[in-house]
Amino acid sequence: MAPGARLLDDVRELADRELVDRFGVSDLSPVRDEIARQGGELPASFPRAISLGIDLAHAVVDALDRREERGVAVAYRRMSYEVINQRLNLAGSRVASLLQRAGHRAFPMTASDRADDERICAMFSHKLAARQAGLGWIGRSCLLVTPDAGPRVRWTTVLTDAPLEPTGSPIANGCGECSECVDICPVGAFSGRLFEVGEPREARFDASKCDQYFKSMYAEADWKVCGLCLYACPHGRQ
Ligand code: SF4
Ligand code: SF4
Repeated sequence: MAPGARLLDDVRELADRELVDRFGVSDLSPVRDEIARQGGELPASFPRAISLGIDLAHAVVDALDRREERGVAVAYRRMSYEVINQRLNLAGSRVASLLQRAGHRAFPMTASDRADDERICAMFSHKLAARQAGLGWIGRSCLLVTPDAGPRVRWTTVLTDAPLEPTGSPIANGCGECSECVDICPVGAFSGRLFEVGEPREARFDASKCDQYFKSMYAEADWKVCGLCLYACPHGRQ
């Protein structure tokens, strides 16, 4: 067995023990320029990415039509964001340790932290890496849409130079004529354009509208949430 194949098995096994639901390795070379534009040369210096995804509890997402109720909103915030982000960060950190022990560079990105307040974005797009691994497509909502659970998945990424074979390649966009996420957004943050490699996110998503909406909600009550773009997607709807 090739050394890369054995290492891939070890990483996959570790991810499985962490109850990671979705796993993929991607070749980042086709999107290198895009990665450099968002996060600079540091993330762009890694040739491959390991994507780790944990599915959200459907029952929690399905309750979002009652998001004005404090109990529903708090459950969504804690169990779909905070706890899953912690689990992803731990899983990513452990995967990075395993790769480093095997003699490779490994950079565990954080699951959900903003690196640029002006552009309202992270250092690296987990969705882009997961798309490159064929785990889903980037929908009109700018979320990564998986064929079976839709956008109800949270992601993290470990960047690495380990010689791992990619486990997939991009799949076709499955949004079709749907515009549920565009129509439901209370602040009209989505333009409705489909994702294209190289086109800036601003062409599809005005992040400042979503950001302002969250600020206005928090000004009313610090437990409020939205998530309607995720709730409305027919892919993964129960
Ligand atoms: S979270 Fe809400 S406000 Fe933000 S983009 Fe989604 S639907 Fe719009
Ligand atoms: S709601 Fe419809 S348009 Fe939006 S991401 Fe899902 S499938 Fe695509």
